[in-house]
Amino acid sequence: MKDLHTENAGFLTLNAGSSSLKVALFPADGDEPLLTGQADRIGPDGTLKLKDAAGDAVEPAPGDLTSHAGALAVIIATVKRVFPDLHMAAVGHRVVHGGLDHAEPVLVTEEVIAQLADLEPFAPLHQPHNIAGIRAAMAAFPGVPQVACFDTAFHRGQPFVNDTFAIPHRYYEAGVRRYGFHGLSYDYVTGELARIAPHLMAGRVVVAHLGNGASMCAIYRGKSVASSMGFSALDGLPMGTRCGQIDPGVLLYMLDREHLDTSQIRQILYNESGLLGLSGGLSNDMRTLEQADNAQSHRAIDYFVFRVQRELGALAAVMGGIDALVFCGGIGENSRVVRRRICERLGWMGIEIDHNRNAENATVLSSEFSRTTVMIVNTREDLVIARAARAAAGIFEEAEA
Ligand code: AMP
Repeated sequence: MKDLHTENAGFLTLNAGSSSLKVALFPADGDEPLLTGQADRIGPDGTLKLKDAAGDAVEPAPGDLTSHAGALAVIIATVKRVFPDLHMAAVGHRVVHGGLDHAEPVLVTEEVIAQLADLEPFAPLHQPHNIAGIRAAMAAFPGVPQVACFDTAFHRGQPFVNDTFAIPHRYYEAGVRRYGFHGLSYDYVTGELARIAPHLMAGRVVVAHLGNGASMCAIYRGKSVASSMGFSALDGLPMGTRCGQIDPGVLLYMLDREHLDTSQIRQILYNESGLLGLSGGLSNDMRTLEQADNAQSHRAIDYFVFRVQRELGALAAVMGGIDALVFCGGIGENSRVVRRRICERLGWMGIEIDHNRNAENATVLSSEFSRTTVMIVNTREDLVIARAARAAAGIFEEAEA
C-alpha cells in the first residue's frame, strides 16, 4: 500500500469544458496547487498555459492540442517532467450533471460512466466533454481512482416546489427538474462559512456566485433550499453570454415566426445573449463593460444588477428572511461597482455595506449598522474536487490493503 502522506503523492483535478481544459495538481496535504493550467480553444488553434506554485510560467511539453485527450497528454508529460518522483494518487473531475442519483462525489466505474452518459441530453454542451476528460484520465493513469464531483449534487435535497416545473407531471418523472448548478462553489462557500462564521451558517444565507456563469442559491442551515439555475445552465441570472430567465413564449416566437431551428436557438441562448447580447455585442466581460462606461454597457450592467436584486428578494422570501449575503465568482469577488449597485437599494433587507470595505474587497463588507452580514468568499471549486479526490484515494488505498 502506498503512503498517501508522502510528499510524493499528487492529486490532479480536471475541469473539461467544450473547448477548454482546466487542471490543477495538488500535493498530499495543503490547499495550494503545485501546478495549474488551462488549455483553451482545443482544436487546430489550441493553446495551453501552465503555472507553478509561485505563479511563474511553466513550459508545456511538446504535443498536440487538437483534442482533450491530446491536451491532457501534454499536461501529464509536463507534470512528469517537472515532478519526476510524483505518483498520481487520484484524479478528480468536475462533472456538470449527476442526475437524481448523485448527491455526493462518486468513485468512477464503467457503471457510473454509463449513468453519466445517460444524462447527456440534459447537459449536451458539457456532459460529453466531462466524460471525455474522465476517459482520457483513465487511459493516462490506469488503476488510479477517478472521482466525479457534480455541480448538481449540492442541490439534490431541495424541496419539490423548487425542483419542479408546472408542466405535465410526467416530465418531472422523466427527470425534467430544476437541478441547479455551481454546486461545487456553493459547497466550498458553505464549508468556509461554517469555519469562519458558524453562527451565520446556522441561519439563512444567500450566496451569489457571479462569474462568467452566474447563479444564486438560498442556503438554510447549510442546505440548498432554492437556486436560480434550473434544468439547464441557462436559467436565472443573465451571464456572460447566456440569457438567464426567459419567457418560454420567446422560444416559440423564434421557432414559429423566425423559423429558427434548435441549434440556432441554442446558439443564441448560450452564446449570443447575456451581457454580450444586452450590450449589443460589445462584451461578455464585466470588467470590459465597466471600463466602456457607455449606453451599451450601462444597459447590460443595469439588467444584471436588477436581476440579482430580484433573485435575492425571491430567495430571501423562500427562507423567511436573510442573515447573510455572500458574494463569490469573478464579478462577486472583484467588482466593487456591481456589489455596490446590488446592495445600494437593499436597506429594506437590513443590508448596508461599508464603502471603504467594499473598495478593499474585504471579507466582511457590511457596515456596523447592517442587520444582514455581507461577505466575500473567494471560491475554490478546484479545492473541493481535490479534497474529494484525496478522500477517494483514501477509500481506494484502504480497500486495497
Ligand atoms: P469567473 O467566470 O468567475 O472567472 O468570472 C469572470 C468575470 O469576472 C468576468 O466577467 C470578468 O470581467 C469579471 N471580473 C474579474 N475581475 C473583475 C474586476 N476587477 N472588476 C470587474 N469584473 C471583474
